[in-house]
Amino acid sequence: MQPKSNIVHLPVYQPGKPIEEVKRELGLTEVIKLASNENPFGCSEHAKQAIVAELDNTSLYPDGGAVALTQTLAEHLGVNSDQLIFGAGSDEVILMIARAFLVKGDETVMADETFPQYKHNAEIEHATIVEVPLKDGKHDLPAMLAKVNERTKIVWICNPNNPTGTIVTREELDEFLSKVPPHVLVILDEAYCEYINDPSYPDGVDYVKQYKNVIALRTFSKIYGLASLRIGYGIGHPEIIRYVNQVREPFNTTRYAQAAARASIQDMAFITSCRERNEEGLQYLKEQFGRLGLSYFKPYGNFVMVDVKQPSQAVFDGLLRRGIIARARWTYYPTHIRITVGSREQNEKFIQALEQVLRELAV
Ligand SMILES: *Cc1c(COP(=O)(O)O)cnc(C)c1O
Repeated sequence: MQPKSNIVHLPVYQPGKPIEEVKRELGLTEVIKLASNENPFGCSEHAKQAIVAELDNTSLYPDGGAVALTQTLAEHLGVNSDQLIFGAGSDEVILMIARAFLVKGDETVMADETFPQYKHNAEIEHATIVEVPLKDGKHDLPAMLAKVNERTKIVWICNPNNPTGTIVTREELDEFLSKVPPHVLVILDEAYCEYINDPSYPDGVDYVKQYKNVIALRTFSKIYGLASLRIGYGIGHPEIIRYVNQVREPFNTTRYAQAAARASIQDMAFITSCRERNEEGLQYLKEQFGRLGLSYFKPYGNFVMVDVKQPSQAVFDGLLRRGIIARARWTYYPTHIRITVGSREQNEKFIQALEQVLRELAV
């Protein structure tokens, strides 16, 4: 038996190590996972109640069209219902976009390093991947524009970029979009947008209204704290969203996810509080990195990529032995680790552990 030739070389996704596994392997009782940019403050209490309220409907298929959630979110964002599509995480929306638009021979442009799912799904569709190195940890939009030609189908912009945390500004994006030809679909992945207060950060919804060829992607996995439920969405022009809907599986988001997402949108106090606590956490980490003489990419989301000036694998291992799970091993950033902003206590434990590890490695 032979699978599609273009998937033979694909790796199986390597997630951040699960907490239970690390505890078992290293004989630790307390482990802090700062590897997957999850919300350290959990999720809204309203969301939990909404999940419980759905329990009795467990035997019934969900509403495939997510009508109630669509309505609530459309109002919240100020867009029309036919401009939204939901997926099992925005990961699935990425998959559906690739499935709907890419065929063998199409070109698709993305940054290197960036979120791996763009490349992964484009490879499954046998598209030609065109990667453009980051410049100082930022998307190099002029260089990406220069790679666009008549075969280009999709350009992926991760804003803020995962793993570096940097943003493209409104001005940079305006310049880029004014020059991208209309046959090219531009994906703005805004998984962390709710964390950002900076006036130079472009709001994808504004761009969707202005450009038919733009889709913004968002998720309930990050600031909303619903990662386990798997729900995210795309915002775009009705015609483009319709194409993506045509490849969607009938019941791709669950009742619990839809209900919890809906309740979360109606509990903005929780989101505001998470944004503020994240801001404090970022402030603390930046101060501490400064004290330790470590440079970092200017962070905008709920994670920081910091140059630990040692092989990242060694620092990762040292942190792991102290019960902290980080992320490391990027091709172009051999001495950087990516760390999620945790609770105050978690951040302090991380800095303490990092300081010990770096001291150990220095001798
Ligand atoms: C976390 C993340 C996503 C997707 O998360 P889902 O859980 O699938 O919604 C998408 N893009 C980026 C950049 C992310 O960091």
